[in-house]
Amino acid sequence: MKIVRLVLGDQLNQNHSWFSSVNDDITYVMAEMRQETDYVNHHIQKVTAFFLAMRSFKEDLSTKGHSFMYYQLDDKNNPQNLEQIILNTIAETNADKFEYQLPDEYRLDQQLQQICSSLDIAHDHYDTEHFYTTRSELKDFYKGKKQMVMESFYRMMRKKHDIMVQNDQPEGGKWNYDQSNRNKWKGQPPIPKEKEFIKNVDEITELLKNANVQTMGSIDSKSFTWPVTREECLSTLDYFCKQLLPHFGDYQDAMHNDEKFLFHSRLSFAMNAKILSPKEVIAAVLDHFYDKSIDINISQVEGFIRQILGWREYMRGIYWKEMPQYKQLNTLKNTNKLPDFFWTGDTKMNCLKKAIGQSLDASYAHHIQRLMVIGNFSLLTQIDPDEVDKWYLGVYIDAIEWVEITNTRGMSQFADGGVVATKPYVSSANYINKMSNYCGDCHYSHTKKIGEKACPFNSLYWNFLAEKKEHFKDNQRMNMMMALLDKMDGNKLAEIQERAAHIIENLDTI
Ligand code: FAD
Ligand code: SF4
Repeated sequence: MKIVRLVLGDQLNQNHSWFSSVNDDITYVMAEMRQETDYVNHHIQKVTAFFLAMRSFKEDLSTKGHSFMYYQLDDKNNPQNLEQIILNTIAETNADKFEYQLPDEYRLDQQLQQICSSLDIAHDHYDTEHFYTTRSELKDFYKGKKQMVMESFYRMMRKKHDIMVQNDQPEGGKWNYDQSNRNKWKGQPPIPKEKEFIKNVDEITELLKNANVQTMGSIDSKSFTWPVTREECLSTLDYFCKQLLPHFGDYQDAMHNDEKFLFHSRLSFAMNAKILSPKEVIAAVLDHFYDKSIDINISQVEGFIRQILGWREYMRGIYWKEMPQYKQLNTLKNTNKLPDFFWTGDTKMNCLKKAIGQSLDASYAHHIQRLMVIGNFSLLTQIDPDEVDKWYLGVYIDAIEWVEITNTRGMSQFADGGVVATKPYVSSANYINKMSNYCGDCHYSHTKKIGEKACPFNSLYWNFLAEKKEHFKDNQRMNMMMALLDKMDGNKLAEIQERAAHIIENLDTI
């Protein structure tokens, strides 16, 4: 029986059971297509990384004897949409059956179901063999429970997969070392330089230019540095375990003017494209922890594992539990437009200039920059979550809807009314100053609330609480903040709100 098997651009799992043996009757089809380059305005480094990774995957598996039909973006016979690519490959190979791996995005899931429903040959789908959880595992876990809290899911996952658990208890005595993951980085310990894989990617950037693909951000096409091959991703993982993991947890939330990556792993693209599996990442981290040849404290390891075994799987579960209605949620009824500086980084607010600037330059910002600088600002200025989602989905190299939307619309914008986060992640300048050295180099003063030089976060914060008061009246986790708001002198609050209104009306001049 002749079979066509589809491999999507984020399904680059070389260890999938599909590839355990070579079968000449199976043709794998992969395609660079306008359907995918154009559904949102992506960062140019993101499109480049995906194309490079797809090409390298195809090369590696072709070398092992597997047969591929690979459509490059500029191939004359590339129909540029998934349905036609599948139909053409079936016709050309005279296939009797079509098979695909379950996609992680709702839109592709729907599209593939629709395509299969009109095929006149047999079809089947497979698991991607990537995640720890199935699509419905989180939904089943929380069935009948009043509230979803990530911590209970995370503990279940630690026990179920026997990760740092002894006799059903957490190794080291604590499930969670979050409290010790909150240090500011003040120049020490030294940060090892990021692992780079310098390549000339002129061929891809020319391809995108000639095809007139619209992208955002910048690229140095003579020296593209992201890991995109299986070998490079494994090497990045090893580098992380040896050089960065020993301080990962301590500085997980820190931000710095001159350091983009600090001790972060930069493994999200490798994992989201499935070049690396979360299981092998966690196994490598644990090997280094137990090996003892490098001194790594349990808090660093737990802090990292929580992100992957906890948050990453949690977000996937929420996505499949809540979609498609999740995409429409706007509980706080925010409707403002994103300011232009999201595409230039040109603002006097130093924290935003740095966090947005590096997002545009490197297609990367770490979690706290995404959450407590850019996301915090977007929420406080009451930007429409559709706008915020579109920007995040475009700008980051690791942005794929299942993990982007749950983090952005959910965790960061509270547009889901508390499905992901139990309270909105908002703060004044205080938090940013505590975790970074941004404020020292800023046009604005982080201590002032009112006046030309007052940090915009300070008035926006109180204004947000005042304007959205009704939404939080039953939220116990907001009680302390709301009590402080209630105690504030009326005239002072009016002055603060006036300053906030001025900022919101003039976002592009701040
Ligand atoms: P590290 O800090 O080294 O963390 C290790 C790994 O943990 C990451 O590679 C990632 O796989 C996982 N992880 C950490 N936090 C999360 C989280 N909240 N959700 C899911 N996985 C997590 N991550 C994406 O992969 N794609 C996105 O589109 C994305 N959008 C985000 C949007 C917002 C508003 C926020 C607050 C977070 C977002 N994240 C997203 C989560 C996180 O910011 C990135 O995974 C991380 O910054 C990637 O860099 P890293 O690999 O160096 O991560
Ligand atoms: Fe950001 Fe305000 Fe600090 Fe400036 S003063 S860096 S705007 S938090």
